[in-house]
Amino acid sequence: MSTLKRYEFWFITGSQHLYGPETLRQVAENSQAIVKGLNDSTNIPCTVVYKPVVTTPDEITNMIKEANKDEACIGIITWMHTFSPSKMWITGLSLLQKPYCHLHTQFNRCIPNEEIDMDFMNLNQAAHGDREHGFIGTRMRMPRKVIAGYWEDEDVQSRLGKWMRSAIGVHVSRNLKVMRFGDNMRQVAVTEGDKVEVQMKLGWQVNTHAVGDLVKEINAVTDAQVDELIKEYQEKYQIATDNLEAIRYQAREEIAIKKMLDENGCGAYTNTFEDLHGMKQLPGLASQRLMEAGYGYGGEGDWKVSALTHIIKQMSEGLEGGTTFMEDYTYDLTLGNELSLGAHMLEVCPTIASDKPRIEVHPLGIGGKEDPARLVFEGRPGDAIVVSLIDMGGRLRMIIQDIECVEPIYEMPNLPVARVMWKAMPDLKTGAECWIYAGGAHHTVLTYTVTAEQMIDWAEMMDIEYVHINKDTTVQNLKQLLFLQDIAWKLK
Ligand code: MN
Repeated sequence: MSTLKRYEFWFITGSQHLYGPETLRQVAENSQAIVKGLNDSTNIPCTVVYKPVVTTPDEITNMIKEANKDEACIGIITWMHTFSPSKMWITGLSLLQKPYCHLHTQFNRCIPNEEIDMDFMNLNQAAHGDREHGFIGTRMRMPRKVIAGYWEDEDVQSRLGKWMRSAIGVHVSRNLKVMRFGDNMRQVAVTEGDKVEVQMKLGWQVNTHAVGDLVKEINAVTDAQVDELIKEYQEKYQIATDNLEAIRYQAREEIAIKKMLDENGCGAYTNTFEDLHGMKQLPGLASQRLMEAGYGYGGEGDWKVSALTHIIKQMSEGLEGGTTFMEDYTYDLTLGNELSLGAHMLEVCPTIASDKPRIEVHPLGIGGKEDPARLVFEGRPGDAIVVSLIDMGGRLRMIIQDIECVEPIYEMPNLPVARVMWKAMPDLKTGAECWIYAGGAHHTVLTYTVTAEQMIDWAEMMDIEYVHINKDTTVQNLKQLLFLQDIAWKLK
């Protein structure tokens, strides 16, 4: 069983008492059949929990209070099998603190030509009942996902499953602690941000921990612990260096950082090459390994990208594809086939590797420390997105761009970093101009598994601004959008 099954979504069916007990019994039975159908679907990653049909304002309010309180419940799905007058929902919905999906479906796929009569219509009213329910959500300005279609259809189940993953992102975000070793890189603007505002909005607890404490942990790692980890390295990666001591030191760093993260309940961390006092190497292999294990990482003290990496990794748990901390490294401006090369000086997650990563040791050129061991590999081709979160002063903006990762076109034998090349949408020049107008950072999260729609759902649930650069984006439209959104968010 997938570990995501531990997350519950409560399936709440609305009705009223107008139609008598027999209709309500049938409503309950049909709702249970839908819940079973969803739970049997491989497109639904989490557990859907059937809840008794709600028919009065008090029942609705109590149900939502319980959903708020229940730790396993990370969202609700509502459906109006019959008409459920939505003033009954106002108190309950105004209290709701969890992600909310309105599933607009009906129990029967087709109109039963011969059988349809007024009894059938007393029972099957979603077409109008769900519109009454939708109105109150809109009237109350509630962030929510609306999914319309037949509940047995793959596209409906798949969209619901993807939204559930966005809701997991909300849950993870609200419980996330980020460990910072050292501050942001000196003088850099885009990695800064208002940590109090971010905690209020996204829930992240971002706090500093002493590099000296980490060094103490690194030095306390035993040779036996290192030996054990080296065995794992030998199995998973190709060792392409004679400098085994450098690899052993990264193993120490990995063990020590992981210990501190786990002891403090942190899912993400940052460090900076400007603050490595007492450390022999900037963690390279160590950070790549920790990302591979699901921790978020951000270089140069970039805690926003680190937290976002962790959240997106949790949203895509169990899926093939990979998610990593990324940086726009350099361009290939060959006319008509312009590509971005994405990499970082060390820290790219091997979940995106297309081949078996090699462990290599090379000088770094900055930081003034010993040559760090790192994994070197090529990223795989495929559709992906890059995501950046910036602090606009008074609010956060998330920028998402669609990209298409391509097969490597150069060998680049003297560039010892993990990397991937991509075609930015709609094309490199337009895409880069849009990205720069939007204020997007050079650091991003690159993911093959989470879609732009899922990130937009997440942003809406977290109540932050977003911009999506895609194949249809033009510079002019984007500039107008940014102008209007700036006003809108100031009015909000
Ligand atoms: Mn960087």
